[in-house]
Amino acid sequence: MHQFPDAKAVVRALSPDEPVILTRPHAAARAARFFVDKFPGKAMYAVKANPSPQLVQILWDNGVTHYDVASIGEVRMVRGQLHGATLCFMHPVKTPRAIREAYFDHGVKTYSLDTIEELAKIVEATTDEAGNAATDLSLLVRLRVSSEHSELSLASKFGVDLTEAAPLLQATRQHCDALGICFHVGSQAMTPFAYAQALERVRAAIAEAAVTVDIIDVGGGFPSVYPGLEPPALEDYFALIHRHFESLPISYSAELWAEPGRALCAEYSSIVVRVEKRRDNELYINDGAYGALFDAAHVAWRFPVVALEDDLIKPQAEFAFYGPTCDDADYMKGPFMLPEDIQAGDYIEIGMLGAYGAAMKTDFNGFGATVSAVVTDEPMASLYRGDRVDPRESDNVVSLR
Ligand SMILES: *Cc1c(COP(=O)(O)O)cnc(C)c1O
Repeated sequence: MHQFPDAKAVVRALSPDEPVILTRPHAAARAARFFVDKFPGKAMYAVKANPSPQLVQILWDNGVTHYDVASIGEVRMVRGQLHGATLCFMHPVKTPRAIREAYFDHGVKTYSLDTIEELAKIVEATTDEAGNAATDLSLLVRLRVSSEHSELSLASKFGVDLTEAAPLLQATRQHCDALGICFHVGSQAMTPFAYAQALERVRAAIAEAAVTVDIIDVGGGFPSVYPGLEPPALEDYFALIHRHFESLPISYSAELWAEPGRALCAEYSSIVVRVEKRRDNELYINDGAYGALFDAAHVAWRFPVVALEDDLIKPQAEFAFYGPTCDDADYMKGPFMLPEDIQAGDYIEIGMLGAYGAAMKTDFNGFGATVSAVVTDEPMASLYRGDRVDPRESDNVVSLR
């Protein structure tokens, strides 16, 4: 893959007609090392946030040994690439065939569940042809917790209610080597308190069920930095999680796990787009809702933007974007701050698209083609900048280059 110093160099060299995905391997490596060094437990990467093989390799090379996979496709992909990785199948609804292949062909021993039916399915699918049940399973019961502190809810779809957790924990205990409890506070959790609250619910579940718990998995939700979404330092999340974990009534050797997706990969990618048409303060660009800007369209996420032309001199103004497809829903309201004199033919870099951005691109309407390039400059914002003086202060800064 071509390497360039930054987005402007990419535009100068290629004058691209298609969107260009820029990747920053150094930023993903830095995020991986941060979690490996500082999270007070095991951090596994939630592959769905960005399944790029290059990214997965960078995370592995920088110490991430565990991967949260949610489909047999993700199991095969990660296993095919990383023979030594530990895979954890953390989707609470799986097919029997997927479980069987994961267990017998790919060595996956860890599964999550939120119903008694799923427990029976896992037990059945991991029993061998001679009728011997598996004795090496780690089973994690997913507890429903509140998403009130997060930008994207994951509260309504999965997770057993606290009131029904005790019998499920007791039944699961009968079929596993290690019993865990997991949850997901929702994506982009804006305060560490979200985890403290969820861990209090875990405490209540353990007390009610009176079972020995070996694993506490606090899930994903660790934030990145976006305009208007500037979270506290990740160290604060880790410290509060650790404190609550330590006070739980669990076995002395219990393990603490997390499943960061967004936080490990948001800084990895940005995208270069071109303005094809301007109508007042609406810019028609060549990527959109069916491309890397899914969240910008569907949940009005504001990604940082910067104009890549040197001859734009007017002050910043608010813009909305239209994507390239013929669908009215291909609209990103922003507001995105760009120079007032931006016009058709100008290029824009849209930052912080490594998580749920580059991974979401489709070919709808024939607009899926994308070029990629590696760049060596810094992402538009970072939670991990090595040069910061006081991490607690500079963590919150969105740099505007
Ligand atoms: C999506 C997901 C994650 C990752 O969430 P982030 O908010 O990206 O950190 C982790 N675990 C599970 C079970 C998920 O569904």
